[in-house]
Amino acid sequence: MTLRFYDTAAREIRDFDPVVPGKASLYLCGATVQAPPHIGHIRSGVNFDILRRWLTASGYDVTFCRNVTDIDDKIIRTAQETGVQWWAVAEVNQRAFTRAYDVLGCLPPDVEPRATGHVPEMIVLMRRLIEAGHAYAAGGDVYFDVSSQPDYGCLSGQRLEHMRPAGDTEGADAKRDPRDFALWKGHRPGEPSWETPWGPGRPGWHLECSAMATKYLGATFDIHGGGLDLVFPHHENERAQSTAAGDGFARYWMHNGLVGISGEKMSKSLGNSLLVDAMVQEVRPAELRYYLGQAHYRSGIEYSRDALDEAVTAYRRIEGFVIRAAEQAAGPGGSGAPDAGALPAPFAAAMDDDLGVPQALAAVHEAVHAGNSALAAGDSNGAGKHLVEVRAMLGVLGLDPLSEPWSAGGGSEGLREVIGALVTVALDQRQAAKARKDYETADAIRDGLLAAGIAVEDTPRGTRWELGR
Ligand SMILES: [Zn+2]
Repeated sequence: MTLRFYDTAAREIRDFDPVVPGKASLYLCGATVQAPPHIGHIRSGVNFDILRRWLTASGYDVTFCRNVTDIDDKIIRTAQETGVQWWAVAEVNQRAFTRAYDVLGCLPPDVEPRATGHVPEMIVLMRRLIEAGHAYAAGGDVYFDVSSQPDYGCLSGQRLEHMRPAGDTEGADAKRDPRDFALWKGHRPGEPSWETPWGPGRPGWHLECSAMATKYLGATFDIHGGGLDLVFPHHENERAQSTAAGDGFARYWMHNGLVGISGEKMSKSLGNSLLVDAMVQEVRPAELRYYLGQAHYRSGIEYSRDALDEAVTAYRRIEGFVIRAAEQAAGPGGSGAPDAGALPAPFAAAMDDDLGVPQALAAVHEAVHAGNSALAAGDSNGAGKHLVEVRAMLGVLGLDPLSEPWSAGGGSEGLREVIGALVTVALDQRQAAKARKDYETADAIRDGLLAAGIAVEDTPRGTRWELGR
């Protein structure tokens, strides 16, 4: 099957036909860094990380740009409310987002531009729009003239006559039409500002993304992504600006569904319990990634603790097979990177069909089931073959337990060796107690290890152990 995606602009699934054969350019609207991320913010990071990995596994040379909106009404408001400088608000929250992307195993973007570093590019874009008659300066602001763009509204499927005022500037509004949106907001006391030919001020959010996307990916690029809540006005306005200026802009628009609770969109009022930093104390990061990534990217997720626990159990079943098979199965499947050449056809077909992760995960669970049966039957060749397949599929989803960041690599390797040596001492004592039929002591040692988070299992091949949560 050919790789194909649902394109929000076309409202249908289209074959992926990149601008440059063999290459794929991807722009994702990243964080507006006014607060640390909760799982609703980070879901698009996980969804588009899976897209990027699948494009790479499919042989495309991917360029991935994810921006940081580091100047915005909400950042300024947070700064004013807390008495912290706007740039300090942005800095500390950008670090929290980076930490969250990293902890959930999202590969870093090729470039992560910050809006405030691209004011010259925004000035050039505004000049082009003014000269082409699509924008005008008024009252210190610069506005986009929506009536000058005949297809304005086509991305979100709205007609101009049904649209409400943009509501993006306050006070003495100098707009010609209330639906015109601000490219640039004139300076206000207490707010940061940059010089332009039309006076000092700060950029509008939409202008930022148009300038950054085309700077790094070119005037025409392949895929523009973001959450479903960005379709209007943000992406509609990005598209309007860039195409009015004569750029081709994005050829495909992909939007992920939102994370909600009881039908409501996730909001700040839900408190801090769903912040990524807090949630990775509750469940392991790989389990949280599994939870956020398992649904189809276009579906909404209704958060519930039960659903999270189910995802944890499902991931542990997969992980348990991979670890047992790596120890017991024949062949090299347990070492090195996942072998992308070993992907089962149903998995590849599911991913090609608009990134069908639920169907792709069904293929993973099927192979795990078959692999466990092979292990139980002592068929170590069969188990080894399934291990290679399972790891290849998990690699695409960013969930392979034997790859970074989930494997005990990096800084924790030394610690794991120390724990391993200590557990071996305890298990030797337990074995000696059993040999002298002192089962009370043997059980006490096992219980003591369990209390420390180390599960012990007696198998025909000897005693094995693993670290729990
Ligand atoms: Zn954006």
